[in-house]
Amino acid sequence: MEFRHLGRSGLKISEITYGNWLTHGSQVENDAAVACVHAALDVGITTFDTADVYANTAAETVLGTALKGQRRESLEILTKVYFPTGPKGHNDSGLSRKHVLESIDGSLKRLGTDHVDVYQAHRWDVSTPVEETMQAFADVVRAGKALYIGVSEWTADQLRQGHALAKDLGFQLISNQPQYSALYRVIEPEVVPASRELGISQVVFSPIAQGVLTGKYTPGGAPPEGSRATDEKGGKQMISRWMRDDVLSRVQQLKSVASELQLSMAQLAVAWVLQNDNVAAAIIGASRPEQVHENVKASGVRIPAELMQRVDAALGDV
Ligand code: NDP
Repeated sequence: MEFRHLGRSGLKISEITYGNWLTHGSQVENDAAVACVHAALDVGITTFDTADVYANTAAETVLGTALKGQRRESLEILTKVYFPTGPKGHNDSGLSRKHVLESIDGSLKRLGTDHVDVYQAHRWDVSTPVEETMQAFADVVRAGKALYIGVSEWTADQLRQGHALAKDLGFQLISNQPQYSALYRVIEPEVVPASRELGISQVVFSPIAQGVLTGKYTPGGAPPEGSRATDEKGGKQMISRWMRDDVLSRVQQLKSVASELQLSMAQLAVAWVLQNDNVAAAIIGASRPEQVHENVKASGVRIPAELMQRVDAALGDV
């Protein structure tokens, strides 16, 4: 496993990070969820990403249970705040001082730790002044409940605002967590250049487009039994944007690139996002331990420029 710094901080995370959205507390039974976390630990993954909203807090609880007994100093635990986790009352979402300061305590309790390594704003909150949010984050850091602060899916301008306020308040905004894959490259024109300038890393989610870039979904074919595309608890709906014949047939064209590199399609997809030097980690999801074993082999792989061009040519502008 290779490790990369988050932003200009001293914190290093495993370039393959394990995340538990849609799986723990939902699609996957608890025993299998724990087996996936243990598989991740066995292969050298030290960084784990979750959020209070995943499975309405159950995902944090499952992760906390699975990590019980591990040496805390050897782990990096990332969680998030923004979305409501239970009752949708007027103060139960967003990035107000009230919601941030009340939410961190719930997350720590469920994760079974007294601090998270990175506490992340899950989205930008249009209804709370960013000054209030960043002051709340400064207080979370000062209280020792989070070591660093990150955000998720912020625009370049939002990153600039947050970064400047954090600097004034004496803490570091070190990461952004956007969706990024060979099928979804929205961050490249603005977010990545701004982040390079500010010293913010991307910790990217859905690097294999929720399973689509494994090539296991074929145009016109039925999705494999037990896959996310058949998960009625939420996965099927989340992956639906990619389940189009034109996308699936273009993805099939990546098979020859993967085989030239002697990689599986999933490994190619993970290695592809790690090729971007502003990406500190690819957060992989897994419904079973074998997927963790397979995908982790993307760590340390470098894809030659000519093959990167062939990926571009195959996927075009989907
Ligand atoms: P991926 O793109 O890695 O998709 C993971 C899913 O793909 C698995 O659950 C599995 O689903 C399938 N899969 C993985 N490996 C293989 C393989 N080798 N062969 C076949 N199928 C495979 O990432 P996710 O979409 O799960 O997102 C990863 C993490 O990113 C989340 O857990 C979360 O931590 C974070 N995230 C953050 C968001 C944010 O807003 N900040 C939003 C979304 C995610 P199956 O077996 O069921 O088909």
